[in-house]
Amino acid sequence: MTALRLEDVRSWVGRFIECVEQRHQDLTDLDRLAGDGDFGTNVRSALRRAQSRLDTTRPDTVAGVFAAISDGFLHTGGTSGPLFGMWFREFAKAASDGLRTEQLALAATNALAAVQRLGHAERGHKTMVDAMAPAAQALAIAAVEGEDAPDALARAASAARAGAESTAQLTASRGRASYVGDHALGVIDPGALTVALFFESASPAGVG
Ligand code: ADP
Ligand code: MG
Repeated sequence: MTALRLEDVRSWVGRFIECVEQRHQDLTDLDRLAGDGDFGTNVRSALRRAQSRLDTTRPDTVAGVFAAISDGFLHTGGTSGPLFGMWFREFAKAASDGLRTEQLALAATNALAAVQRLGHAERGHKTMVDAMAPAAQALAIAAVEGEDAPDALARAASAARAGAESTAQLTASRGRASYVGDHALGVIDPGALTVALFFESASPAGVG
């Protein structure tokens, strides 16, 4: 089975950081419609912090790369900072010298559990969990079927994208979007969209 090597993970994370640099305004606009309009700035700040850690510490393990991303989020404000920080930490914990499909599945399952322990959101509450949960499920199935890591990540990306898009139909039960009720109908949750962008960035073909 093809595992991801350090170079693959560096490229994946690099594409994700680049994608958020380009789309932070769109993410903020979604948060303006459903929250307080700081989401894109929060995520961009977290990833800029992560990038400077990567530049200064030059981690030579997959775990080290994800730990830098996690630290970037843990040192950033907003509700999303600690949640994404805990989420990425599980990817660091599951990695070894590479990242096989079973490790990705384990990471995504534990990462979802960590986010839910902290934020108490379930699927259907219009949060990042609506993309994290189907992605974790897709990776678990891919692991059972013995898929290569790149194919497993493509499945996770489709599942996360569908989950993110489903949030447009939802009224929020968690986070600031819950304060605006039906006014956020038709608006995709930016946290869920970011999860989709992350998994889509795994492919050199880029995001959808
Ligand atoms: P804030 O609401 O503090 O401004 P951000 O704008 O940084 O936070 O993050 C908003 C995102 O956080 C939402 O798009 C949603 O995906 C996510 N979110 C909010 N509350 C929760 C929660 N309890 N559990 C999981 N995710 C949440
Ligand atoms: Mg916000």
